[in-house]
Parts: sequence; structure tokens; C-alpha cells
Amino acid sequence: MRFIAPAAFCLVAACTTGSSLPEASIGIAPVLTSEEARDEYTFARPQEARVTHLALDLDLDFTRQSVGGTARLNIAAAPGVQQIILDSSGLQIANITAPDGAALAFEIGDTVEGKGEPVTVKIGDARRITIRYTAAPQADALQWLAPEQTAGGEHPYVFSQGQAILNRSWIPTQDSPGIRQTWEARITAPAPLDVVMSGIRQGEPEDVGQGRRAFSFAMDKPVAPYLIALAAGHIDFRALGPRTGVWSEPETLERAAAELVDTEAMIDAAEALYGPYRWGRYDMIVLPPSFPYGGMENPTLTFLTPTFIAGDRSLTGLVAHELAHSWSGNLVTYASWRDGWLNEGVTSYIESRISEVVFGARRAAQERALAFAGVEGAVEERGADAPETALRTPAALDPFATDSSITYDKGALFLHTVESIVGRERFDAWLRSWFDRHAFQPATSAMFLADMRQNLIGDDAALEQRLQLDAWVYGTGIPDNVARPDPAAFAQVDAASRAYAAGRTLDAQAWAGWSTAERMRFMQNLPDALSDAELATLDRTLGLSGTGNSEVKFLWLQTALENRYDPAVPQAEAFLAGVGRNKFVEPLFDALVKQGDWGMPIARRIYAATRPLYHSYTRGRVDLLLGAES
Ligand SMILES: [Zn+2]
Repeated sequence: MRFIAPAAFCLVAACTTGSSLPEASIGIAPVLTSEEARDEYTFARPQEARVTHLALDLDLDFTRQSVGGTARLNIAAAPGVQQIILDSSGLQIANITAPDGAALAFEIGDTVEGKGEPVTVKIGDARRITIRYTAAPQADALQWLAPEQTAGGEHPYVFSQGQAILNRSWIPTQDSPGIRQTWEARITAPAPLDVVMSGIRQGEPEDVGQGRRAFSFAMDKPVAPYLIALAAGHIDFRALGPRTGVWSEPETLERAAAELVDTEAMIDAAEALYGPYRWGRYDMIVLPPSFPYGGMENPTLTFLTPTFIAGDRSLTGLVAHELAHSWSGNLVTYASWRDGWLNEGVTSYIESRISEVVFGARRAAQERALAFAGVEGAVEERGADAPETALRTPAALDPFATDSSITYDKGALFLHTVESIVGRERFDAWLRSWFDRHAFQPATSAMFLADMRQNLIGDDAALEQRLQLDAWVYGTGIPDNVARPDPAAFAQVDAASRAYAAGRTLDAQAWAGWSTAERMRFMQNLPDALSDAELATLDRTLGLSGTGNSEVKFLWLQTALENRYDPAVPQAEAFLAGVGRNKFVEPLFDALVKQGDWGMPIARRIYAATRPLYHSYTRGRVDLLLGAES
């Protein structure tokens, strides 16, 4: 690994003058310059000039559905460098000035599909610049909700989703995970809306007149810019523990808080394994249903879909996952999107370990078995030698288009395999030390493997051979040393699946006693072809239509649509209108599209009504399925 030599940069306190943060708290993370760390999805040339700190002062305009104001950037540049290149996606820049107020020339380049536009600023000797700008209405990262799209129905709402490369649509900076930045923000919104961000709130909201209030935030640790996030709406806060709490609309706060009671225990479990939680607070916000993901690990404030609320805490593995990102992803971050598994695979492994401590070995074993089945399914579908089944993904693969069964589940499987070979105690000590050695820094697959070789394997050639590290990270399919999940994890359920396949026997009593993972396993192993009568019996006997568990409901609807089961169409329509989580939305539309003459008209009819309810990410995915004209 090669870092830019600190001496070549302005890395001393002078870089950060003008910041309202205490100078000593601002760290400047290194940027990797190796070819394998190169991010193809940024226009920035960080080895020449890079952003080290960002200060936003923005107004939320709910009428125009846009944000505007200023962004002040602190810049570190190699000696003699006179320009910096930033990322933009539709930003309307009014002017850019030096600290003395002098206007700086800038040029916005041509739009590159899927990447946005470069903004080249002639900074001369200036190492701090202020950009006055407005984001385009409907900027991709931001979702603006009308009051009727919220639970309360009275106030508008906005939230952002930056990952992968959407933050350039509302923040003019270098939008690349390897270019870590500290940041601060002052955000103005109409009362009574509250604003929250993925940084620590500074003081009380300030009344700025005309019915508006300003909220201030700071993140004094350098983070990947996709982790800058905000939400604003009519929201309340409920403390859960000394350093944890939840925000949500008042209407969902009670249910959300009840579902999240294990959060402190999860942090304790993670800290015991991987060292201190370094971000101060761990709060969460439960967003309106259109949030496109299950969760987003925005530091100090995890964003969550309301679909994790099942009433019995059976889907809170999602919280364990987002919390795990406080180590893998947020503390140590991939430098390029090709190493997505370094974030998501390592996180899924840690999620499994937290789950084992907090919910017990049985639940963790079942979740692992489900994930393993997903990896096997993905490899079977794509082919064992398909390049996209490698953990380090092919260069051309769109960062939005990676397969979660590979990035998340094969990545976790790799670490479970290493753990099983070297032993848990030894592996845990190494993984913890990896986080310590690379805290607040970017990393690559090659760095991960080199560190493992140096600090875990040493000169044990036999161990090196048994681990097959390169086959796991750069090879395709599933290496033959894989640690398979415990075959007993689903023994009872799989017996029930066989009984159903053989004679359509169903045991409602057994189903009632099953965990969510067991129910999901059963649903996933149903025979491919089912008649209307069989589907009606399944629904009636197992209470599938009426379930409040979004994962089980999704699998039921998917099965029903794949079998052209008309009675389920109104349920699918209601579900798709009420949920924007892409994990559910895209596969259900896909199931309809694959049913051609029967499904396509239904898909088009439903999408015409639900498309405006989805975030740009979900919209983009479904647009691809249904054709751009949708
Ligand atoms: Zn994740």
C-alpha cells in the first residue's frame, strides 16, 4: 500500500483555519494512490488537490423541493497545484470565491452518464473556497415527501440517501469513498420541522425569523462523503439508553422504540468483539415507508425503513447490520466501489456475530443458513465462473448493480470460513486489530489480504494454502474450503418442506412456533409451480396475507405473483404502494414482468400509481425493468 506522503500536502493546522470546529479535532485521512484504489466514479484527482473539510450552510425549500446556500471547502493541494476538480450532478453554481471574497473561475464539464459533471475550480493559491449554489429540484439523493406521504399527514418531509454516488446531487465536493472529509452543517427549515443529520447536533435550534429555525451539526471524524445525510420532518425523539435513541414521526415512535430495545446490548456485544464504538452517540431514525433501503449506516444516526418493525423484534438483525458498519464501512471504508464486500461482507459477518450474542446461536445459525442458500442460488444462476461472482467486482460493474448475495453473503461466508480454519479467538483478535490499524482510513481488498498475511497467517505456508485467500477474493463461485452452515439449523423446517412437496401437507401449529428465519426458509423452498387452490390453502392455513412481517409478506407475494395468482394482486398493489424498499419492490415488479402477458399490464398499472412514491434509486431500478418510458 502506498499513501501520499504527508509532507507533500498541507496537512498542518493551517489547512483548516476558518473552520468553526476545534482545530485539534480535525483529522486528515490519507488518500490511497494505488491503481486498485482508484475510484472510476469520481472526477476528482485527489493526488493533486483534495477536500479535507466541508462546511454547509443550506436552506431547505419545501416549495421548490430543493436545497441551496453555500458550501465552504478546505483543500489540501500538492505544491504548485492551481485547480481542484469536484463532483456534481445537476448543481447550479452561482459563484465560487476565495477567502478574501475574490471570485474564482470555474468550469462545469459535460455530463457523463451515471457519473454527473466535473467542476474544475481555478483555486490559484487559495486553500479554502466558498461555493454558492442550488441543487436541482428533485436532486437524486433527496426524496421530498408531501404531507400525505407521511404517517402524520400534516407536514412535508425530506430525507437524503447518499450511497453510492448520489450526494453530488446536493453537495459540491469530491464524492468518493476514499476521500474522507470532516464536515459541519447549518440547515434551515420551516418550524415545526426538526432537522437531524449524521453528525452530532450542536446546541439548540436557533430561531432565524419568518417561521424558520436553523440546526447545526458537526462530524469531527473524517468520513466518506456518501455518509453525509439529513432528514427533516415532524419527528420526535425517544431515548433508548445512555447513548442510544430513536427519531421518528410521533405516530410510529412507540412501536419503533419497542422494537429497538436491544440496541444497547448490540453495541455492548460489538464493542466486546471489535473494540470501542468511536462515534459517540448511536441514534436511529425510522423513516417514512418510501426509504429505498432496509437501513443506511449514516454515522451517529442510522436510517431505517419502517418495514423492520415486525412487532416481535424478529427483523432487528437489520439494526445489528447497520451498527456493525460503525466498524466495517464507516471506520474502515473501501476506497473504490469494486471492493464493496469490504464494507458489506465484513459487516454481514459482524452482524452474524452480534446476532449470536444478543439473540442466541440458533437464530444466528439460521440466518447464516439462509445467507448460504442465497450465495448458492446466485452462483447457480450466474454460473460458477461468472466474473460478477468474485468478491472484488469487475471494473465495469455499476456500483448500484452489485448482487447482495455476493457482496454481502459471500463476503461474510469468506470470513466465517477463515474463522473456522484459524479458530475464533485468533480470528477475532486479528479482525479487531485490522480496524485499529486502519481506523478512519480507506482500504482495498489487497490491503486486507496483505494485513491478514502479515498479522494472522505469518509464515505458516500450510495455513496459507488451506485458506485460499485469493480464490475467495478474486476468484469466482464458492471455493471448496467453504465453511458450510450447520445442517441442523433448519432440520425441522426442511422436513416440513419435504412433506409439503410430497403430499401438500401443512402443519399450521408448527408454523406458528417458527422463527422468522424458519418461515422464510419454508417460503423459499416451496415448489416452483403451485395451483390457485394450493395457494389459497397456503394463505388460509398459514395466515400469509395477514402477516405483519414484511419479509414473510414479501415472499408470499413473490410466490403468488410467480404463479399468476389473481387474488393476491390487490395485496401486492397495496404492499407496493406502501413500501419503497427496493429489496421488496424490484423483485415483485420483476416477478410480474417475467409473467409477460399476465403480469406486464399489472406491473404497468401498479407502477403508474406508485412510481412517484419511490426514491430515485428504487425508481431507477424499476424503470430498467419496465422500460424507460414507464
Ligand atoms: Zn450494509
